[in-house]
Amino acid sequence: MSTPPYTYFTQIGDPVLRQVAEEVALEEIDSLEINQIVERMVKVLRHYDCVGVAAPQVGVPLRIIVMEFREGKKDQYKPEIYEERKMATLPLAVFANPEMEIISSQVNKHPEGCMSVRGYSAQVERYDKVRIRGIGKLGTPSELELEGWSARIAQHEMDHLNGTIYVDRMDVSTFNCVSWEQINAAEGRSAIWFHK
Ligand SMILES: [Zn+2]
Repeated sequence: MSTPPYTYFTQIGDPVLRQVAEEVALEEIDSLEINQIVERMVKVLRHYDCVGVAAPQVGVPLRIIVMEFREGKKDQYKPEIYEERKMATLPLAVFANPEMEIISSQVNKHPEGCMSVRGYSAQVERYDKVRIRGIGKLGTPSELELEGWSARIAQHEMDHLNGTIYVDRMDVSTFNCVSWEQINAAEGRSAIWFHK
């Protein structure tokens, strides 16, 4: 068994996802240990080709998040979906001890998933605009104003630092297994893969 930071995502049920993560002590902020955690988080984010990772998702109960919506991800969505969800390129952003401020009361409701709840999705309401302030790591900004999908990513990752998972906020009636159609097509002989 490996020790945190893991190379994979912890799954719902793991107590680390339900605890309130601790602030990174300021004297530790540039330590080898914290830098290794940050680097591992970026590696996991890119390996799984997702858009955000919070430290508890790699087994570390600290207040660190990484976010990135790389340019090429646009090709993974139909243009109308990309537009409707207000998706946009978000260069790598790494925050230690982030604080979030909601700067618009407008909300958007769109499907959301989580790498720690693999295989499922549901509609979740999120604020349209937020500001994140923290300690920028790896040369990334210490303050960002985000809107649309990027603001959604930030709210989702901030929730992880407080032990909250999207299933706590979802419209329960929209919760779905993302493979339900394939399961029907394969007459039940299908699997949800975890091995990437
Ligand atoms: Zn998540």
